[in-house]
Amino acid sequence: MHILVTNDDGIHAPGIAALSTALRKIDGARVTVMAPAQNQSAAGHRKTLHDPMRIKPATLMDGTTGFACSGSPADAIALALLGYVKDKVDIVVSGVNQGANLAQDITYSGTVTAAMEAAIAGIPAIAVSLDSHTDPAFEAAAAFAAKIAPLVQQRGLPPLTLLNVNVPYGEIKGVKVTRQGHRIYLDELVERIDPLGQPYYWIGGERPSGHFEEVGTDVWAVAQGYISITPIRLDMTDMDFVKTVESWNLGA
Ligand code: MN
Repeated sequence: MHILVTNDDGIHAPGIAALSTALRKIDGARVTVMAPAQNQSAAGHRKTLHDPMRIKPATLMDGTTGFACSGSPADAIALALLGYVKDKVDIVVSGVNQGANLAQDITYSGTVTAAMEAAIAGIPAIAVSLDSHTDPAFEAAAAFAAKIAPLVQQRGLPPLTLLNVNVPYGEIKGVKVTRQGHRIYLDELVERIDPLGQPYYWIGGERPSGHFEEVGTDVWAVAQGYISITPIRLDMTDMDFVKTVESWNLGA
């Protein structure tokens, strides 16, 4: 099994070192790492079309080597799968991200969108995130990724579907298969004045909250201390709403 590993925190982040270390311990597994050179958290599903990209060898925190790419996490996967990585890739694992990727987060997350890029390319993919912004203990999340990766490779995933895995901070009560919940963002516009007297802007505010009471969701499961596994489809069509939009009679 040839595993391609990436992340959005950058190739020098502790989470990707923990992940690749854990995946290398799988019987018969081989790991290639290709990740952004810099932190690209919340980069979204960006495809670089108007700038050249560079790829350089880099050393991870665990002393192993990988490839650092100047593009987004999705670019890293695209470059690898389009032929930079010569050997056939069987599965893509993205993470372990510092911070959960729940509910609407997945549209921002470079960790998840890298897995989406793999799904578009027809490769089974798993995104893995740890629900802590401070604790560097990624081992449990990495070990869980190593547990499910062979299963996913063996059983496969439906087309254009990936698994979004979130691991709680602290004691783990078990595993729940979930649906997407709802985040509550607490973003605030921050305006400051630069040394030349011009205003600049920042998206500030507190970290997001969420509807923790919605049983069965990713937001709920992680808050309860469970590992959350959400199957995510790239087909985002709201089928329930299709008939309503049809009833607007917009056609000629
Ligand atoms: Mn990140």
